[in-house]
Amino acid sequence: MARLTGAKVTVAGAGALGLCIALELARGGAEVSLLDPAAPGDNASGVAAGMLAPAFETALDAASADHGDLLLAARDLWPELAERVGISLDRSGAAYYGEHIGAVAARLKALGIEAGVYGDRVYTREDWRLSPRMALAALRSAAEAAGVRFEQTRAEAPADGALLVLATGAERRGLAAELALLEPIKGHILRLSGGPDIGPVIRGDGIYIVPDPSGAIVGATMERRVDDRTIDAARVAALRAAAEALFPELAELEARAETGIRAATPDGLPMVGPSVTPDVLLAVGARRNGWLLAPLVAQVVAAYVAGDDPGPFAARLDPRRFDRQQG
Ligand SMILES: Cc1cc2nc3c(=O)[nH]c(=O)nc-3n(C[C@H](O)[C@H](O)[C@H](O)COP(=O)(O)OP(=O)(O)OC[C@H]3O[C@@H](n4cnc5c(N)ncnc54)[C@H](O)[C@@H]3O)c2cc1C
Repeated sequence: MARLTGAKVTVAGAGALGLCIALELARGGAEVSLLDPAAPGDNASGVAAGMLAPAFETALDAASADHGDLLLAARDLWPELAERVGISLDRSGAAYYGEHIGAVAARLKALGIEAGVYGDRVYTREDWRLSPRMALAALRSAAEAAGVRFEQTRAEAPADGALLVLATGAERRGLAAELALLEPIKGHILRLSGGPDIGPVIRGDGIYIVPDPSGAIVGATMERRVDDRTIDAARVAALRAAAEALFPELAELEARAETGIRAATPDGLPMVGPSVTPDVLLAVGARRNGWLLAPLVAQVVAAYVAGDDPGPFAARLDPRRFDRQQG
């Protein structure tokens, strides 16, 4: 853990990233304020399915294909954090039922991820899950206990003598020029009135069904460059149809739709590190893996604040990589 005594930091945004960052900084001895104008959980982190899925994200999502090592390293930080703050991790694994079983199994094998083909599915233990709203509450309690001060207000600019960490999700206005690089990706997700409550996450092509004690979750659409949170009946119907094609018995259940806005950078990995704006650090753009990446992002941010080595993944996450690509 980075040594941060004497550091004064304002964190903007109380999603998965901001809460993990605030907690990590406060544990290291920093004086931390966390600002967010929204009600707790009214953000992408609260809407998310909560998969910690390095295996199938790497195998199924082209934007993550080259980052299996980073996603696995992020996942491996979860057991210690979860134990410390009281988040329960479901380690039942995940199974893919789709049209590309051979290719998905081969891809996982090439990545060194243990998986097996069982009839019509590929199963791996390497993908886990948490319940996002419970996890947000647990992180908030732990952060408060570590001394983080919460304020329900917008962050506007770095305060005198304090660093500002932007963990502002899909926010693209003001505060730092790099936020203009973010692309919003809207996602619809369905919460069912029943369905599987425990067991492996079920993944198909463009669809997943996540068992949850409060009702299974079906996700999710990926609507690029859309940042309104209205519910679109046609998208909901398409998600339902895809889920029922995998599990016809889900047709019996009621579904409540929600939407959230993910933020994506041009290469699919977040921007974590110094902004061109003085005294500002960025922690944005986690796209569809913000829960998975949050503890790794928190460690990298804490290392920057402490002036320590930010570790082996920092270069891939450095916001300045986009300047280098342009230059
Ligand atoms: C449908 C859906 C399903 C998903 N499923 C998964 C999944 O299974 N696994 C996974 O790992 N990820 C998943 N994701 C992605 C994940 O939700 C995001 O990557 C993650 O929540 C991003 O967290 P964040 O803290 O960056 O942003 P957010 O959770 O969006 O939080 C940002 C916060 O910043 C606040 N804010 C904005 N501007 C300011 C300001 N100026 N001052 C102060 N506060 C400000 C906002 O009010 C907000 O509360 C999913 C996303 C969606 C939409």
